[in-house]
Amino acid sequence: TEATLAGIKTSDQKFEAYINLMEEQALQDAAAVDAAGVDANNVLSGIPYAIKDNILTKDVETTAASHILEGFKPVFDATVVDNLRHAGAIGVGKTNLDEFAMGSTGETSYYKTTKNAWDQSKVPGGSSSGSAVTVAAGQVPFALGSDTGGSIRQPAAFNGIVGMKPSYGRVSRWGVIAFASSLDQVGQFTRTVKDNAAVLNALAGHDPQDQTTSQRAVPDFTSSLNGDIKGLRIAVPKEYFGAGVNAEVKTIIHQAIAQLEALGAKVDEVSLPHTKYGVAAYYILGSAEASSNLQRFDGIRYGFRAENAKSLEELYVQTRTQGFGDEVKQRIMLGTYSLSAGAYETFFKKAAQVRTLMNRDFENVFANYDLIVAPATPNVAYGFGQNEDDPEITYMNDVLTIPVNMAGLPGLSINAGFSKGLPVGMQLIGNRFAEETVYRAAYAFE
Ligand code: GLN
Repeated sequence: TEATLAGIKTSDQKFEAYINLMEEQALQDAAAVDAAGVDANNVLSGIPYAIKDNILTKDVETTAASHILEGFKPVFDATVVDNLRHAGAIGVGKTNLDEFAMGSTGETSYYKTTKNAWDQSKVPGGSSSGSAVTVAAGQVPFALGSDTGGSIRQPAAFNGIVGMKPSYGRVSRWGVIAFASSLDQVGQFTRTVKDNAAVLNALAGHDPQDQTTSQRAVPDFTSSLNGDIKGLRIAVPKEYFGAGVNAEVKTIIHQAIAQLEALGAKVDEVSLPHTKYGVAAYYILGSAEASSNLQRFDGIRYGFRAENAKSLEELYVQTRTQGFGDEVKQRIMLGTYSLSAGAYETFFKKAAQVRTLMNRDFENVFANYDLIVAPATPNVAYGFGQNEDDPEITYMNDVLTIPVNMAGLPGLSINAGFSKGLPVGMQLIGNRFAEETVYRAAYAFE
């Protein structure tokens, strides 16, 4: 733990992956593991890891990369942090993200801009920018992220590592600052598939504090890693290789699919016809939920409070005006609008219907297949500030990850090769709660 903290302090000037180190807490936890003796049956015992800063850590500042939460010290740990402490893992720091996890480049953070681990002139991806980079840069062996529309899989792809968004309900969201509660899911970044499966073992399971967590038994995810994928039925959706997807990305993913085929998988092309509506529906539903979830940040209970307000109303308005960044405000306004009486039928309800159609697309495919394989992102990492004037371009970049959140499926991104020196991510999508199948294929490929 000491070596890890020292390593981060030197190398993080280059990557800016961390908002805060939790040195005191980490050394205490490490001493407790030392005193108890490292548990030989537990692979995470004594292993340092990083925590996305939208996940609550008791007595350690948690900001969600927003000015409005500056100085906020939670009074409890998120269940995932608790679970990892029980497994003996040592949380060493809080990583940077897009403000409230809204973004795909890491650029909306109030505090700093994390750099891509491979090329510091490129975006790290987001919103879990810091967690992806700290693992890819070798600062820690694993890190926690959250994924509402791609925030684990996309930065994992941009940094060439393994990023898993488990099935909705597999991992507790208790103590995770809510963005869009029906889409949010915690997951983990690692450098290998086996590490990834081992971390999910510690994270997964029912939590009485989160009624959306599943009661079903949690398998040992590492036990499916036997390298055997003979007869695995793989579906390749043609919509995921559309016009917006970079040609070199397509080639590399097709090569990776050929490799899976050579290992004995059966590959067919399929259709997920409602894919093209995913981004539009996501920004309506996700923003609606965000507008409601973010109401609690009003200057009374958490973090930052505007000064010199003359009334309670003014205090709310000033705090939110000064405390939220532009992207967050945009989402709150979008969401509030689509939930308003006049717009609900046209926007929110339609988007919810589209979501159902997207779920049916997946159900139809999984009736005949075990796994869906596709690119994780249409492009490799790009330069900072590139899409500043046109947020729609950035939004469209999530077209391949968003559908998985809409349907609550497990999705994993793994490196499949490089295009002009930058990593290309392949996405493996499983049926609900079929993480084992996803890991089995990823491990055989790796
Ligand atoms: N990039 C998407 C957004 O901005 C997804 C973010 C996420 O998964 N948290 O909403």
